[in-house]
Formats: sequence, C-alpha cells, structure tokens
Amino acid sequence: MNEHHSRRIPLNDPLIDVVQVKREPAVGAAATLPRVNQAAHHAASTPAVRAGAIRTGAALSLSDVEYRYAADPSGGQQAAGLGPLTLSIQPGEFVCVVGPSGSGKSTLLGLLSGFLKPQQGQMTLAGRPLSGPVPELTLVQQEHALFPWLTVLGNVGFGLKTRRLGRSEQRARALAALKQVGLEEYASRRIHQLSGGQRQRVSLARALAVQPSLLLLDEPFSALDVNTRQQLGQELLGIWLTQGSTVLFVTHNLDEALSLGQRVVALRAGQLALDAPACDLTAGDLKAALEEGATGASKKL
Ligand code: ADP
Repeated sequence: MNEHHSRRIPLNDPLIDVVQVKREPAVGAAATLPRVNQAAHHAASTPAVRAGAIRTGAALSLSDVEYRYAADPSGGQQAAGLGPLTLSIQPGEFVCVVGPSGSGKSTLLGLLSGFLKPQQGQMTLAGRPLSGPVPELTLVQQEHALFPWLTVLGNVGFGLKTRRLGRSEQRARALAALKQVGLEEYASRRIHQLSGGQRQRVSLARALAVQPSLLLLDEPFSALDVNTRQQLGQELLGIWLTQGSTVLFVTHNLDEALSLGQRVVALRAGQLALDAPACDLTAGDLKAALEEGATGASKKL
C-alpha cells in the first residue's frame, strides 16, 4: 500500500499542483521495465525529427546551489538539505533524477518551483534568474491535485486562466492537450469517473496545456500498476518528442529512470552521486553509486 503524503509546498497554485505519492521502496527494488527510450532518443537526435518538432525547452542551470533546513534545536546533527549542487541541463533534454528517501529530490523541486529560496548559488532558466514561481515551469504529481468539482476539460484548462488568452483560445489549448494524452473523448467527464491512469493523463495534460519550457515530474507514475506506468512512460516520451520541453523527471524507480531519461542524475545525502547518459548506465551502476554515496565530487561514467 502506498503512503500518501502532502508536500511542504502550498497546494492549489494555478501553475503548480503539489501532492505526491511518496514511496519508500528499497533502491533498485522496482519492477523491471524494458528500455523504451533508445529508439525515441535516437529519433530525437535526428535532424528530421528535430526540424519537425516544436522545440520549446529551456536550458536550466544550477551553480553551487545550496539549501539547508534549520538545524534541529536539540543540537547534534548537521542541518540537512541540498547542495552545493551544480547542474546544467540542455534545452529539450530529458533528465531523470533518482535517489533514496532524504537525498534531496523534494528540496530540488521546491527550489526549482520557487517555493524554497536557495541560501547560496544561482539558478537560471533560459538564461534568466530563477527566483520564484514562473509560468514557463510546471510540475506534475499525483491525480489528487485535480479538482473534483471541475470537468476533465476544466481541470486541464485551469492553469490557462491566469494567461492572457481568450476563452476560445483557452478551450482550444485545453482540448489540444487532452488530445495529446488521448482523452479528448473524456472532456466532459468528472474526475471520479476516471481510472488512476486516466487521472494521471489529465494531470499531464494540465501541465502540457501551458506549454512549459521546463516540465517537472515528481514520481508521477508511482501509484500506477507496472503496465500503465510503462504505457504512460512511452506516451510521455512521444509527447516530449513533439512538444520539446526540457524534462526533469524525479523517480525512486531506477529502471524507470533508465528507460525514460536521456541522462540520469543520482542524488545522495543532498549531493550529486552520479551524472551520466542513461545509455552508459545499468541499474547496478546506479545502485552502486547510491550506496557508495558522494564524497564531494560527482561520479561521471
Ligand atoms: P527526498 O525528497 O529525496 O526524500 P528531501 O528533499 O525531502 O529528500 O530531504 C532532504 C533532506 O532534508 C533530508 O535529510 C530531510 O530529512 C531534510 N528535510 C526535508 N524537509 C525538511 C524540513 N522541513 N525540516 C528539516 N529538514 C528537512
């Protein structure tokens, strides 16, 4: 049974919905997934596909970013948090972030989403300082953040209300996003009439509707069964190929990271433990890096 936790980030932000299922599986104990990424990633790198795709992804850069939570007043332990972390992500890159519980994944997402302020270092998105919530960035978590009182289409269009778009444009964009996830027939349904996988498609459509230049995904498929998870992973890759957002996908599941990401970044105890192209890695490499931990420098394969 999954354990459901609310995050420390405010709920119901029009740009970002923030509830996740947080699981505590043993690292590497995830169900085995086939690698679905290689053909797609190869296709993404061919000029023909790139020319046909709408490339909207933005470069993301973190330079010596550090965030420490307040130290435990009872003393003793060093304050936990993240960093200093330096990371550079190319426009349109699909990067998976893995790490055991407590490794700093949520803190990283909190910093990128603008709900936490780094105490040191700089972050930029498309070359501009990233220092608060920005409309170019959306975060996808679990279906629980969907509004039960709205229709599927209403949920998908919710994030567009704050944009300077006419009603018909909002509706067209919401419908287009629903179509991307194969749910156009479900536009007028209510959330409770959908399966878990369909709800997660709606969450994805809501994020896609705002055409983000950076799409953050926080364990988005962790509550789903293996088949649905695989299917949604493949669909996400297809959408990424055409939409071209930069993607940062956080997961506990090493096989999922290897099957989806072009590149995998592993965190341990708030530090970079490994940063390497997925095609050069095995789950064993990831497990070893996470078990060894970081000794200051990241491990590059
Ligand atoms: P993950 O998402 O990978 O499980 P987190 O980013 O939540 O990791 O946590 C990173 C570290 O910061 C952990 O050591 C955790 O205990 C600590 N931490 C997280 N939130 C708080 C908080 N609100 N106060 C103090 N420490 C925290």
